[in-house]
Amino acid sequence: MIPKRPSGIIIIFALGLLLFTACNNKAKIYADNDPIIKNIDTTVKPGDDFFKYANGTWLKKNPIPGAYSSWGIGNVVIEELRNRMKKINEDALKANAAKGSNTQKIGDFYYSGMDTVNIEKQGLAPLKEELTKIDHITDVKSLVDEFAHLENIGVDGPIGAYAGQDSKNSTKIVLQLDQSGIGLPNRDYYFNADAHSVAIRNDYQQKHLPAIFKLAGLQTAAAAAAAQKVYELEKFLADSSRKLEDLRDPYHNYNKMPLAGLNKLAPDIDWKSTFEKMDYKGVDTVIVGQPEYYRALNKALKTYSINDWKNYLRKNLISEFGPYLSKPFDQEIFRFYGMVISGSKEQLPRWKRVLDTENGLMGEVLGQIFVKEYFPEQTKERYVKLVETMRATFKEHIEKLDWMSPQTKEKAYYKLSKVMPKVGYPDNWKDFSALEINRGPYALNVMRANNWWHKYHAAKLGKPVDRTEWGMTPQTYNAYYNPSNNEIVLPAGIFTIPGVKDENVDDAVIYGYAAASTIGHEMTHGFDDEGRQFDAKGNLKTWWLPQDSVKFTQRATMLINQFNGYSIYGLHVNGKATQGENIADLGGIVIGLDAFKKTEQYKEGKPINGLTPLQRYFLGYALGWLGQERQESLSSQILTNEHAPGFMRVNGPFTDVPEFYEAFHIKKRDKMWLAPDKRVKIW
Ligand SMILES: [Zn+2]
Repeated sequence: MIPKRPSGIIIIFALGLLLFTACNNKAKIYADNDPIIKNIDTTVKPGDDFFKYANGTWLKKNPIPGAYSSWGIGNVVIEELRNRMKKINEDALKANAAKGSNTQKIGDFYYSGMDTVNIEKQGLAPLKEELTKIDHITDVKSLVDEFAHLENIGVDGPIGAYAGQDSKNSTKIVLQLDQSGIGLPNRDYYFNADAHSVAIRNDYQQKHLPAIFKLAGLQTAAAAAAAQKVYELEKFLADSSRKLEDLRDPYHNYNKMPLAGLNKLAPDIDWKSTFEKMDYKGVDTVIVGQPEYYRALNKALKTYSINDWKNYLRKNLISEFGPYLSKPFDQEIFRFYGMVISGSKEQLPRWKRVLDTENGLMGEVLGQIFVKEYFPEQTKERYVKLVETMRATFKEHIEKLDWMSPQTKEKAYYKLSKVMPKVGYPDNWKDFSALEINRGPYALNVMRANNWWHKYHAAKLGKPVDRTEWGMTPQTYNAYYNPSNNEIVLPAGIFTIPGVKDENVDDAVIYGYAAASTIGHEMTHGFDDEGRQFDAKGNLKTWWLPQDSVKFTQRATMLINQFNGYSIYGLHVNGKATQGENIADLGGIVIGLDAFKKTEQYKEGKPINGLTPLQRYFLGYALGWLGQERQESLSSQILTNEHAPGFMRVNGPFTDVPEFYEAFHIKKRDKMWLAPDKRVKIW
């Protein structure tokens, strides 16, 4: 249930298309299609709460629908993408395509997911074979073998192994072990004293886990007892897991050791045999992220009975595949993870859930069809150009820095020049020909697809790194920076702007909305607290002079303190854990702003709909974060996510930017006023 997330990935709301010049005859087009003016709430003073001023009218008119935990511009775009996907699936269903073809796989996957008659009839039966394997566990050896087998079919357990780039030698793929194995979204849920965390862990222990065990066939008392033991076991693992902010230091989370070292760390596991069972071949070295976790796991193997561990695995298996089984399973998992944790009031319609699952498992199959229809070559060229404009402006910013030495600057220019942009869609598509998809059972299609992914990643071990690979699909509404490849990846999906044609949007809005909040943001990740520790080739290697690192950290600490001061529903933002994202936001805003100052629209200074170019730039940025979130979801986000809530990502960094005060005539008496000596400037 908890995806393993590569570092630096961010959900970014909104991108639009660009115009590099704005000329006079376009002003009217902009006015008629103005994507920002209708969202403004003029009853709010921009200097009191800019986010509310910029987006307030839209927020009032667009309450969160019941099936969602949040609703905003990103959701509107995702809905649009889903409708396109639905048509592709329905066409595939009718196509009578050749067995083994991508079209057959899409059509049959959709069929099996929508076939509720058979899904209801089968109940737990699709998992019977897997449950029997768990029943047959007799000792630690067969238990650990089963950990390995379950990993192969996509069930997360206590061994968090994956094949990934060596941070200190980005040309090599090595086996890595991270902390893993808990059912709540983050280790803090097992210990925090705030009302949100307490309510969630109480429900998990007293309702959710017992319900899962009853569904697995236990009587009430036995189910409650099993739940209690499994909770204790997870709490034990959580107690030895690092906090979100402690996972940010790449050196601290890099402990390379030979297999013998791992055997010493956790001697009750036969690691050689376990890795072979996981399809990781010829492993002689591993990078252990959190050694203390593996020491604790070894202890847990002896502290908890085989029977407790078997229940733990039954629960993990049902949690992974429950959403693809009959209603009682699906609904209990939705009740806890959807309603209790995220605050959703009702489930999404089935067809949307099936498409989301399919997209997660076979996204590139859909993506090939998607880009043919929806992403022309000229759009790709336009975005490649904007990336270069931002790169050039970022370089000018580095040149002007008064805190960085000339030596470090030279290296920063070099790293920046080597940032590789991937725009729209991959040049090479993944080959799904070995994946078998048929018309049912649904859960088994998902299981085979999970296994395909496991084998795909495991096969990378010992092979050269494929730098053309994409970690997201083209139709994804998101983007990322990958420090090991020093690359920014901007999928086609993020270019979709709902309701407005991109050629009708003025530069001011586009530079705020796209150049700042996405391109500049991702580029800055290469130079945030984590990214700056990697060199131009993607290796974890110091290239900063020590005094420059000190000065960078002083500035980053000011931003940490600024965000530590923000809170909602009694929960404080974790300034340390969110610093990378906040540095990237602030960097994107100031670099995007100077890129915008080079445009004709800025130089002419003509207002559109009564708003100056500078005002429109900031409103364009705020448009990217248009949206609202339920209390449960916001609370979860603060505890588990490296991103602060959207409204803080607008109001927070804006208070650091002098042009923001200028654009909206913000004075000392206004709530957002920050004394000039408190304003953070990094890039
Ligand atoms: Zn980010």
